[in-house]
Amino acid sequence: MPKKPAQNTTTDPTNEAPTLGVPEGKRTESASKVARVPSTLDAAGLMERRKSPRIATTPPAPDAPPKFDDYGPIVGEAELGEIRYVAETLRGRTVKMVNSTAVGGGVAEILNRLIPLMNELEVPTKWDVITGGNDFFEVTKGFHNALHGEKYDLTKAIEDIFLSYNEQNRSRMTFDEDVVVIHDPQPANLIKSRGQKKDQKWVWRCHIDLSNPHAGVWEFLRPMVEQYDATIWSSPAFTRQVRVPQYLFYPSIDPLSQKNKPVDESYVAKVCDDFGIDRNRPIITQISRFDRLKDPVGVVQAYKMARKYVDCQLVLAGGGATDDPEGAVVLAEVQEEAGNDPDIIILNLPPWSALEINAIQMASDIVIQKSLREGFGLTVTEALWKSKPVIAGAVGGIPTQVIHKLTGMLVQSVEGCAYQIRYLLTHPEFAAQLGRNGREHVRENFLITSNMKRWLLLYQILLGVAKKEKAA
Ligand code: UDP
Repeated sequence: MPKKPAQNTTTDPTNEAPTLGVPEGKRTESASKVARVPSTLDAAGLMERRKSPRIATTPPAPDAPPKFDDYGPIVGEAELGEIRYVAETLRGRTVKMVNSTAVGGGVAEILNRLIPLMNELEVPTKWDVITGGNDFFEVTKGFHNALHGEKYDLTKAIEDIFLSYNEQNRSRMTFDEDVVVIHDPQPANLIKSRGQKKDQKWVWRCHIDLSNPHAGVWEFLRPMVEQYDATIWSSPAFTRQVRVPQYLFYPSIDPLSQKNKPVDESYVAKVCDDFGIDRNRPIITQISRFDRLKDPVGVVQAYKMARKYVDCQLVLAGGGATDDPEGAVVLAEVQEEAGNDPDIIILNLPPWSALEINAIQMASDIVIQKSLREGFGLTVTEALWKSKPVIAGAVGGIPTQVIHKLTGMLVQSVEGCAYQIRYLLTHPEFAAQLGRNGREHVRENFLITSNMKRWLLLYQILLGVAKKEKAA
């Protein structure tokens, strides 16, 4: 289990509401009174902007990637020293990571940051993305949902599509590194290429919750998974019994990426103006791909319930990952549920919106992640790192991050979510304490530096590096 921040709340005996850290007299104060740059637009201007938000149509120039040393002020020099020490034992050992999308979704988010840092520490690491047609991504999306427990009709034709695209990718890819890491089910059958280098090790990194999978889909994948040398899971609760060693790696965020670095208040104000978000009133946000398992429709319903009692706006910001063909359909469902409520702001953002998402998260009074199923839930990690009170579904890796009433609030229903929105907006000091605790929880457990250390130690184990040194 991750280290928890010091307990500074107590349990509410009624189990209906968090109680402590909140002096009675403060309970009616609105969370919207936090000092911030107000909107430069008047009410009419904001309404107009909501109808046609200014969404960037081209990617911004990338930031200069942060250097390893830049993390010192955030995690401490001792931590960096440990990581450097382990990396030195692996210098020159090569790694390839493979997944199914270069943009959108949590896996791409992690790899984008992890790989340059590994290269800087002289553990040469390449990243390859498999390709496929719409038919392949429809199959893998179906597998994804089925592995999360949904009904699915697995046919021979579907299996053939999966296997033939894996073959196609295999024929154009080379695997001559010391360690090959395959992320998630989509490229799982690339394992057939093992052995292109002597003593090569193959690792399957599973980012999804396999606690209750569709039996047929899992039985189709299991023989592939069991050919690997090691498997990695995001939580002990997500695993299946397999005949290969299992390791636990929490996913992580990069505190210096565009998504998570500190941004100026003036930039936050500009983004809010661009999207018609009123900074003078409470802002509730869910950032997620438009995916039914993220329950965006449930978020709209919870907002509507809470809105009867507290003034607030709802921002639903998402976009489509290239491996998710369902997005447009779900977006339409969300728009229908939202109707013509001018205070529901739905943003379909392009994949290069990291800075804008950062600013929206910063502007938010509450961040919601009302998932019905979830992998780890990096959006939660991002919000906690920004000291935001989080209300989130108690699924997947979320309870590892959101410790109920300590680092956020866990919910099981639309009504529960509505209740917590109302509660946190009317108890701003309690909400702020959740946010502070959340940030420390992330610092201790879920930053990219902890993740690097985990990877390096696993490479040491698999390649027998530490053992050889001892014998010498
Ligand atoms: N994200 C994004 N744009 C969007 C929606 C999500 O950049 O329109 C990012 C989000 O900030 C987070 C990641 O994609 O970093 C989503 O990861 P998570 O683990 O929450 O969910 P997944 O999409 O992998 O199921």
